Amino acid sequence: MSKKVNIVGAGLVGSLLSIYLAKRGYKVNIFERRADMRKITMSAGKSINLALSDRGWRGLEGVGIADEIRKIAIPMYGRHIHNRDGSTAFQPYGKNNQAIYSVSRAEINMRLMDLAEQQQNVKIYFDERCTDVNKQTNTSTFENNNTKKITTDQSDLVFGADGAFAASRLNMQLSSDRFEYKQHYISAGYKELIIPPGPGGEFLLEKNALHIWPRGSFMMIALPNMDGNFTCTLFLPFEGEKSFANLKTKEQLKTFFEAEFPDAVPLMPTLLDDFMNNPTSSLVTVKCFPWVFDDKVALIGDAAHAIVPFFGQGMNCGFEDCVVLNELIDKHKENWPEILRAYEISRKPDSDAIADLAIANFVEMRDKTGDPKFLLQKKIEARFNEKHPDKWIPLYSMVTYSPQIRYSTALNEGIRQQAIMDKIMAMPDIETKWDSEEVEKEILKNI
Ligand SMILES: Cc1cc2nc3c(=O)[nH]c(=O)nc-3n(C[C@H](O)[C@H](O)[C@H](O)COP(=O)(O)OP(=O)(O)OC[C@H]3O[C@@H](n4cnc5c(N)ncnc54)[C@H](O)[C@@H]3O)c2cc1C
Repeated sequence: MSKKVNIVGAGLVGSLLSIYLAKRGYKVNIFERRADMRKITMSAGKSINLALSDRGWRGLEGVGIADEIRKIAIPMYGRHIHNRDGSTAFQPYGKNNQAIYSVSRAEINMRLMDLAEQQQNVKIYFDERCTDVNKQTNTSTFENNNTKKITTDQSDLVFGADGAFAASRLNMQLSSDRFEYKQHYISAGYKELIIPPGPGGEFLLEKNALHIWPRGSFMMIALPNMDGNFTCTLFLPFEGEKSFANLKTKEQLKTFFEAEFPDAVPLMPTLLDDFMNNPTSSLVTVKCFPWVFDDKVALIGDAAHAIVPFFGQGMNCGFEDCVVLNELIDKHKENWPEILRAYEISRKPDSDAIADLAIANFVEMRDKTGDPKFLLQKKIEARFNEKHPDKWIPLYSMVTYSPQIRYSTALNEGIRQQAIMDKIMAMPDIETKWDSEEVEKEILKNI
């Protein structure tokens, strides 16, 4: 049985994975490139908020830490749409108060590191940048940011949990034959902005919602924070008429924001400075295979499958990797070659599926959430689901609230459902008879 495990990266997935392994008695060392973020002040514009949903909760529950994370999570029961003309609309995410939860990425990462360090057999080494993983010798090499000292450490297993631009993955790519690798940047980037709390610390927008300003080729979203702030993210093409390239001066910015987000501007007193000072970041999808090398080195989380954030699933998917791995440890009774083989075969189709769904949801969020035809389709689906819950679960619910349904199944089912809905939406006078028996029967006929 392997006993000593090295994890590269104390991000969200590396930290959670360490708890899973520690609870099984493994001795886990995590090597993290950054300084300990619990001891430094975060720079502005770096505090991304994430939507945590059922797959993620399942990952946390698996090691008994969901209640700890619940303390820093704010439920969001639906999308609050902000139209250009100032009108708003609320679209519930699911039924019976189903919610996704807003958490600050830094906050949840720090909690996970605390919880990991509470395990006696987990040690996190900070400022240690991985420079090499050697699958032949089972060693990983790190360079200390401050002292420049090089350390080489041996372990029975190595997990590369070092994110979308993983050094561990690059090492495997360079040292393996037939390593499949594909990366794709979407044409939009993002920038973090802020809506601070009101004078009494109150939330200036509806607290329990994910706010969206859909504008066709771009959008802004806002997620609530525990201290009354909203972290806003502007997703905008890098180039083109309405783009980061064309927002260079404060005048251009002011004109753009006042025209596109008139109701948000008065709530963003530091908008112009934030925009100028905060970085513009790109969004990448990474698909690769294999994830396992010589039965000893494995990739997990974003290192194996970075996806764009539009389905709110990157972290959730990474946490699900931990759940699946944990189940496989039971199933294969700690036979690691078998566990790792089964892990990559099981997870690859699902991570590919959520990667594709995330790209498709970009179009849905920025473009369609303001489109009456799309909203009508969602209403028809919700009504049908209400009446026939065994026959139709909307795609969003499959992905977000149904961890028992694999991402790959959800993708295929979503394609089948869309083909049916295309027929339904083409029915004459669908706007007036959308809730009729005729429409219901037509869906039943096509299922
Ligand atoms: C704008 C945006 C919004 C998002 N929204 C959501 C959302 O709503 N819901 C959701 O589920 N997901 C969301 N995600 C995705 C989510 O952030 C990632 O999927 C998640 O952080 C992946 O966790 P990870 O541990 O695999 O990687 P990371 O969190 O990136 O952690 C990797 C760690 O490895 C460390 N590291 C990197 N290189 C080295 C090295 N050479 N040596 C040692 N350590 C190293 C890094 O410092 C980091 O601590 C979003 C992402 C973005 C960019």
